[in-house]
Amino acid sequence: MIENVWVSSFKRAVAAVVVMVSCHNLSAGSKPNILWLFSDDHAYQAIGAYGGRFESLDLTPHIDRIAERGMVFDKAYVGNSICAPSRATLLTGKHSHLNGKIDNRVAFNHDQQQFQKILQKKGYQTAMIGKIHLSGKMQGFDYWEVLPGQGKYWDPRFITEKGQTVYKGEHSTDVITRRALNWLKKDRSKDKPFMLMVHYKAPHRHWQPTTRWKKKFSTMTFPEPDTLFDDYEGRGTAAKKQDMSIAHTMGMRGDLKAGKSPRKEELEKTPLTGKALVRWKYQMYMRDYLACIAGVDENIGKLLDHLKATGLDKNTVVMYSSDQGFYLGEHGWFDKRFMYEESFRAPLLVKWPGVIKPGTRNHDMVQNIDYAETFLDIAGVEAPADMQGESLLPLFKGKTPADWRENLYYHYYEYPAVHSVRRHEGVAGKRFKLIRFYGIDVPDGEEWEFYDLKKDPSEMKSEYNNAEYAGQIAALKKELARLKEKYEVVDVPQTHHLRKKKPSNRP
Ligand code: CA
Repeated sequence: MIENVWVSSFKRAVAAVVVMVSCHNLSAGSKPNILWLFSDDHAYQAIGAYGGRFESLDLTPHIDRIAERGMVFDKAYVGNSICAPSRATLLTGKHSHLNGKIDNRVAFNHDQQQFQKILQKKGYQTAMIGKIHLSGKMQGFDYWEVLPGQGKYWDPRFITEKGQTVYKGEHSTDVITRRALNWLKKDRSKDKPFMLMVHYKAPHRHWQPTTRWKKKFSTMTFPEPDTLFDDYEGRGTAAKKQDMSIAHTMGMRGDLKAGKSPRKEELEKTPLTGKALVRWKYQMYMRDYLACIAGVDENIGKLLDHLKATGLDKNTVVMYSSDQGFYLGEHGWFDKRFMYEESFRAPLLVKWPGVIKPGTRNHDMVQNIDYAETFLDIAGVEAPADMQGESLLPLFKGKTPADWRENLYYHYYEYPAVHSVRRHEGVAGKRFKLIRFYGIDVPDGEEWEFYDLKKDPSEMKSEYNNAEYAGQIAALKKELARLKEKYEVVDVPQTHHLRKKKPSNRP
């Protein structure tokens, strides 16, 4: 009897060892999986973990789970605040002028070096599901299923290597999650670590939430930003002449669905003008935009739950970001493009059990040129010398190198174009920001702006002509020149691919 007990416990121990060994194989050695979650135009102002005026609404409980169990980056930025160029930078680890995708219109060269091609060669199984906004066949992914161009919210069509599928009657946010879960459950190789990129179309304009979230947000009222009625007096030509304001640019029909019930009847009953109309437009915009966010967050919850239920969470790095920031009425705007904080800055939250200490915040200057090298570093693969970022791994471990960068380079190119934001480049540190708008119809063809974010966090007044800042401005000009040399910035003529400006959809 005693012997039998010993034998059976010995057998159990052997079985446990076998299970441990096979689990080890399941996660393909110690190489971590990467789940990269990405959305389109998700402003950090609309994420619970970042606080701000929507904090009490608890908009993003699932994205906030990543924050609670991982690290929130407070100073994450992009190099060019617009959709497709941001995605090109994500894949190549290079600024726009080197990867060639300077704006939404020029073609992306898929044949160039991209991090996923390297990961794939090093034994990772790679997949991309959702919106990439780079036309042409994806390369370096074992599986890809993407929306063509901007894609559609409802009845979305997806293209793959083999063909296309239309998901009738469904919402893109739900389909993207389901296809990602399907890949994790059925197509994922059990012998390889994976890199899965899940890219939502939401909350991109024209903000069409799923029915369930639309209903929930349809009676809500949201706090306004302090700068909703900005008159742009403290800034130059570019801020004054843009075409991205809630007051003038935001369309009553396409953007605000005011041609349909119940908003149509509401406006007919109480016609609005002036500031009252702007206030109403802002509320409708927030209802739709934030309901799209709630849909993304709910779906991210499903992916996190799946990782947890399968035990994959233990060896998977989960990262959440967006292709840039967005204006939620700040400065009276929607859209992005400018180097001002709301569009220049993007969310970044990372969870990595055993490596990142839960509930930590990072304040170092990071940029989307860093992500490709970070993915490679997570996989233990050396990044090619011509990628332009830095791996964030030391930051994940709470060990920021002493010589970590203090300033970031930025360059926006898409002009003339929709929203009429002038071309500009600049340099920004934690406190000071210098911007050069160029190709402007003024004597030198350029206008400079300078901001002290400590004294003026909303960037309401350029201090470029304030003699008190002469020293800081001269230093940043030098820094701009240094960064342009470091990043091998080349001039891209403004006439590069001149296209007729689309007519504005003013109401
Ligand atoms: Ca975008």
